[in-house]
Amino acid sequence: MTSALTLTQVSKSYGGRDADPAVRGVSLDVSPGELLTVIGPSGCGKSTLLRLVAGLERPDAGRIEIEGRAVAGDGAWRPPEGRRVGLVFQDHALFPHLTVARNVAFGLDRLPRKERAARVAQALERVGLAHVADRHPHELSGGEQQRVALARALAPGPAVVLLDEPFSSLDENLRAKVRTDTLALLRESGSAAILVTHDQTEALALGDRVAVMRDGVLEQVAEPATVYEEPVNRFVATFMGEADFLPAHVHDALLTSEIGVVSTVPGWGGTDLDVEVMLRPHEVALEVDPDATSRVVAVEYHGAFVLHTVRLGSGATLRSWQQHGVRHPAGTPVAVSVVPGARPVLLSGEVALSAPPEAARRL
Ligand code: ADP
Repeated sequence: MTSALTLTQVSKSYGGRDADPAVRGVSLDVSPGELLTVIGPSGCGKSTLLRLVAGLERPDAGRIEIEGRAVAGDGAWRPPEGRRVGLVFQDHALFPHLTVARNVAFGLDRLPRKERAARVAQALERVGLAHVADRHPHELSGGEQQRVALARALAPGPAVVLLDEPFSSLDENLRAKVRTDTLALLRESGSAAILVTHDQTEALALGDRVAVMRDGVLEQVAEPATVYEEPVNRFVATFMGEADFLPAHVHDALLTSEIGVVSTVPGWGGTDLDVEVMLRPHEVALEVDPDATSRVVAVEYHGAFVLHTVRLGSGATLRSWQQHGVRHPAGTPVAVSVVPGARPVLLSGEVALSAPPEAARRL
């Protein structure tokens, strides 16, 4: 099957030769119907990536193909309107002086008038807004405006829809509903989609795959559970959720640290190596123990769960999610362990280890 979108070694720098590139050697494939979420710190190049795909920027190097046809690079160039790309931006970017229907008609100007009217009606029907076709954007709620923007992007039947922080201007209550609606509409459209967000939960919950970006580079592109549970490095590990690190040691497939035995490490039999172990709060168990040297130092109530921060004897801290009924006040001595069955991530320096390194000492 042809990819909806293929980027091959795409780079883009804004200022001359000396400037750091905003996007560096990015290669990426998105399948028809797939939703890829892109997440990374502010300024890492997320918007630039979208603008390159949309045709609002030209790459300095590399190649972009949409449905197998080159749209940029290697001498090819197609302007935005010739790319079968739909755009949805954070502020909706609707034309304030045009009605909802005419906003949606905007991308359909090449169709005969009659067909255009039918497509607009169909697009508004699909987002459940046929009844507001004659209103102006300021007469709609934020959620409705967002749906109009989506209807406008989807009406021409794009191969790829690009969404840049589409929910960030909506308040918390509305966001969950608009998010669910948007996801359903994207699925129904069958278009590929790239959604940029700075919200980890959104990236994990919405994406078929998640791309984690830093300094213009895609650090990891993988399914949500893989990015969260098997991050390739320390940056992805810390960016995609709470993560604490402890010095640890693997001896013949047994992982130990200050808190005792952490887990076994299948495939590491015969290895003897100093590592670091990453622990997420849901992997850390606590038990009140008057003899323990670890102490609770902070308790944060989050509703469904309570986040406990614990200082170990060495001074290192770990965080632990406890059920909402559990609250160990600051100062409580607790024994700390790792929940059974956890497979914590091991790191050597910045890099996560999926297998013992070649250079590891063999027993
Ligand atoms: P993000 O969307 O992840 O916040 P951007 O793609 O907007 O990141 O920006 C990536 C880098 O490129 C940043 O260093 C930013 O300052 C720079 N940049 C973005 N747009 C321009 C521009 N039009 N001119 C010059 N530099 C820009």
